[in-house]
Amino acid sequence: MNDTRNVLAGMSPADAEKHLAALLAAAVNAIVIIDGKGIIEFCNPATEKLFGYGEGDLNGKSINLLMPAPDRDAHDRYIQHYLDTGEARIIGIGRESVAQRKDGSLFPIDLSVGRVIGDEPRFVGIIRDISAQKKAEAALIQERDRSRSYLEVAGVMLLVLDKGGFIDLINRRGCEILDRQEEDLLGKPWIDGFIPENQRSEVRKVFKHVIEHGFEGYETVEGLVLTHTGGTRLIAWQNRALRDKNGEIIGTLSSGTDITDQRNADIEAEETRQRLAQVSRVTLLGEMAAGLAHEINQPLTAISTFAQGCERMLEASNSKKSDLRNALKQISVQAQRAAKVINRMRNFVRHKDSERHEVDLKELIHDLHVLVEMDARRHNINLVYELPAELPLVMADPVQIQQVVLNLVRNAVDACGECEDRQHTIIIRCLSPNPETVRVEVSDSATGVPEDMADNLFTQFVTSKKDGIGLGLSISHTIIGAHGGTLSFRNNDDAGALFFFDLPTAIEEPEC
Ligand code: ADP
Repeated sequence: MNDTRNVLAGMSPADAEKHLAALLAAAVNAIVIIDGKGIIEFCNPATEKLFGYGEGDLNGKSINLLMPAPDRDAHDRYIQHYLDTGEARIIGIGRESVAQRKDGSLFPIDLSVGRVIGDEPRFVGIIRDISAQKKAEAALIQERDRSRSYLEVAGVMLLVLDKGGFIDLINRRGCEILDRQEEDLLGKPWIDGFIPENQRSEVRKVFKHVIEHGFEGYETVEGLVLTHTGGTRLIAWQNRALRDKNGEIIGTLSSGTDITDQRNADIEAEETRQRLAQVSRVTLLGEMAAGLAHEINQPLTAISTFAQGCERMLEASNSKKSDLRNALKQISVQAQRAAKVINRMRNFVRHKDSERHEVDLKELIHDLHVLVEMDARRHNINLVYELPAELPLVMADPVQIQQVVLNLVRNAVDACGECEDRQHTIIIRCLSPNPETVRVEVSDSATGVPEDMADNLFTQFVTSKKDGIGLGLSISHTIIGAHGGTLSFRNNDDAGALFFFDLPTAIEEPEC
């Protein structure tokens, strides 16, 4: 491209003037030339248009006309100061300012001023209307502020990582959770800086997966973050890939909810529930003490009888070795029977953390037999088991489920014991109404649940018994609920009540 000065230099003054006039006329920006006193010597058509003046209206007028107060009054002093000291504040530097149209309205401008070389002081000013640019900037700032306030208002931690895993953005909640200032976080490597060492490789895997494959789902992953004091908080994260306008993955966006307090409360509630369940088990056995004593007494009496028999045989000269062996065997069998009852009791009241594994409800009910049987026998109740040969397994804590069954049977026995005018039957049944569910039913033939109790039967301390404490059903209800099942009841059409609970069957792990 040719240098304009060279082009103009090669022309006659008349041609050069014509070229210059054409250039000035075509310019989009306002161009104004003023003398040392600020009087407009020349302005291009864009100036008149921009400021709302007619052709030639501005020639000979003071440049102050185009400025609002206080610039207007100070402008003459600016020029004089420059001429006196040579110290430029705008000249050769440029700045953003405000201009005034003929109708008095103001608008933002970008002003650049230069000195025209020559003896007399003259200045050229180029004025660019930046209203549209300012408006766009304001809209952008407003949008940014609004987005920021969304981030701040969110009760969750919001975290943006770039492709390298460095923190690009973190909101106020995030800073609060980590107990750190935003400036201490931005630009820092997230995984190495804020994830406990033993979880880093796992988190790195998730991050890599999101970055490499993108992830648009809503799956939640839980993990610990490190706080400023070296403590940890448990966060439930949802991660998504962040893409640019071309769809390229440029990082990750994660929202995290601090679930530390909630998890601690859950653990505490579970511990309380387990302690209460254990107290209730001890109480249950306490109530059954008479029956249990009887159950243990029987083998003890038998042992004592066989032992006396052995003594006599040893004293008699003609006793047979085989009879002695037989009696000793009986002693051993009866001792084992007593030990079995005691063992079952001990297992039943033992306090231990809830342990769930795949269990066969049939076997679990069968193991309760000794405890259930003696209770029923005392009241001369007919006990019927209906247990199918095949039953899907359930994922359960066996002791807790046994506690529920024993509670239901005990209540049935109590109800039958209240009306001993007839022979009663209690049926304990297992069935699988569909492949996802196993049901246990305990049905009795007593009077059923009184109507006025039906609505709050599972509430603590609701009892109709003289010595009852009203905990059994409420605890059973909680235990079954915690196993993902439901405990319900209804009165039978003919007589008595039917209590039943459903448990989800154990899901088979897919083979890898
Ligand atoms: P408790 O046995 O200490 O009373 P539960 O919570 O086990 O506590 O039972 C609460 C109440 O539910 C009982 O007092 C009784 O009135 C009623 N109930 C439970 N099972 C039956 C049943 N099979 N038939 C009639 N009423 C029942």
